[in-house]
Amino acid sequence: MNRDQPEREEVLSYQVHNGVGYWQPKGIPQPVGVVCAFSSRQGGISEGPFGSLNLGLHVGDEPGCVLENRQRFSRALGVDPRHWVAAQQVHGCNVAVVSQKHRGLGAYSQKTALCGTDGLVTAEAGVWLSCYYADCVPLVFWDSLRGAIGIAHAGWRGTLANIGVCVVRQMVSSFGCEAQDLQVLIGPAIGACCYVVGEEVAMAFEKRLGQGSLSHRHGRSYLDLRAANRELIVEAGIPPDQIHVSNLCTACHPEAFFSHRRDGSPTGRMTAIIGLREQ
Ligand SMILES: [Zn+2]
Repeated sequence: MNRDQPEREEVLSYQVHNGVGYWQPKGIPQPVGVVCAFSSRQGGISEGPFGSLNLGLHVGDEPGCVLENRQRFSRALGVDPRHWVAAQQVHGCNVAVVSQKHRGLGAYSQKTALCGTDGLVTAEAGVWLSCYYADCVPLVFWDSLRGAIGIAHAGWRGTLANIGVCVVRQMVSSFGCEAQDLQVLIGPAIGACCYVVGEEVAMAFEKRLGQGSLSHRHGRSYLDLRAANRELIVEAGIPPDQIHVSNLCTACHPEAFFSHRRDGSPTGRMTAIIGLREQ
């Protein structure tokens, strides 16, 4: 497990509240009112491949179970599930600016989720930005000074499309943020220990970033998608010590995470969520 991950301290700590398990940042300075969490698969009511805390409405699970799971996860965090915003993620680089008037979009139905979008940003309190993943990289952003936040979903395509940098640019243009004030948290995702990629994908990453995010064992190429995202975000001007990277590999921990690579289709989705609590 994690044989290629450098030894660094984990930036997330596991919490259980009313039976619902999730990770929250530890030892990272966060402005007052920011709440950020990454769900596990523990504490829901879904069954079979979705067992038990599947939070994705788009993967074939019973919608009633997913909505109950979202309620439970929300309750554990003290968040209003009616105030979630979700996007129909397409592995692209479109970022939507949302506000209180968008609350509830994608919260109860995939049909109302924002189309063709992989990144969300807001500067309003009480808007809970969410993204859904089962190996892809969840990226969470906050501005330490201006009360602006962002979230993104980055698979290999979205990473090469520079979704993380698109979120940074949107926060700069919409809210007057400066890259040097942003903090980024890169959450649980498939690690370089488990993520075998084909030659085409490996070559695309080598062309963009050199060998930095690739390793080769037994004739196979392994990609460190989190390291690639980190490198791209550093290029966008965020100081490296403000980018916090989890070590948790979704494929290595079947009790904790859904993993599309490990389990195939169908499988459930975890949620990353960030919001500013209304005072
Ligand atoms: Zn792994």
